[in-house]
Amino acid sequence: MSRIVYVNGEYVPEEAAKISVFDRGFLFADAIYEVTSVLDGKLLDFEGHMRRLHRSLGELEMAEPCDDATLEAIHRELMTRNALREGLIYLQVTRGAADRDFLYPAEAVPSLVLFTQAKSLRTSPAAQAGVRIISAPDIRWGRRDIKTVQLLASAMAKMEAKKAGKDDVWMTEDGFVTEGSSNNAYIVTQDGTIVTRDLSNAILHGITRAAVLRCAREAQMKVEERPFTIEEARGAAEAFFTSASSFVMPVIEIDGTPVGSGAPGPVARRLREIYINTALESGS
Ligand code: PMP
Repeated sequence: MSRIVYVNGEYVPEEAAKISVFDRGFLFADAIYEVTSVLDGKLLDFEGHMRRLHRSLGELEMAEPCDDATLEAIHRELMTRNALREGLIYLQVTRGAADRDFLYPAEAVPSLVLFTQAKSLRTSPAAQAGVRIISAPDIRWGRRDIKTVQLLASAMAKMEAKKAGKDDVWMTEDGFVTEGSSNNAYIVTQDGTIVTRDLSNAILHGITRAAVLRCAREAQMKVEERPFTIEEARGAAEAFFTSASSFVMPVIEIDGTPVGSGAPGPVARRLREIYINTALESGS
């Protein structure tokens, strides 16, 4: 079934959507994006996603495509037009179209594209069973805090996991886990402390990460923000990852070693439930 997508001011069937071949998103990956989840017809963590969008735009000296109220209205219109109650809304801003040149063109007008993806997020078989991951060197650039569309390193990593019969990849640099191919990585130590890498340019500042850490601290769970190794993760009581599309996802195996009991652990399961309930209460 064809979706209605948004392209530069127009709502059109996906087959009719058009972007210039000179668009810098296409030529240079000169574009940033956000993915917001929709549950029970509500946008989750929308303000957080808008804050990060502005930060990414600012870091790349890219113009704002429009104000936040307009962006929110487009999200809601797409939900209505596509009858989306559960799934994802993808938003991409590019620097716009200009004759090919590495320097940012002064006159380019940003392109804005949004589309929906219907998806079952709450009752996911992966969340029930847990996922198996492998580790791989992080070959991405040094500004992973900017949410750009240059995702080929992550796509290559995910393909490697698929070929190995596994579900995802945690990436490592200088001996420590940076993050997952499209998520933030966590372990729970044998004494029950939740550990996740501290924020820097080495990782994306996950919106779900911020919300889940807030939930954990409110529930009196101990949280430490520091790097950890794959060896520490393999010996941990639990492991999990977070993202807007997976919420809290238990990891049950790392590089062939079962983590903890080899089944989704109590901390990950509890955090998933608290996060979903909290996000639904504050979502609209
Ligand atoms: N790290 C990377 C590399 C990601 O691609 C994502 C998801 N886009 C995340 C972390 C999680 O971020 P969020 O919780 O905002 O979806």
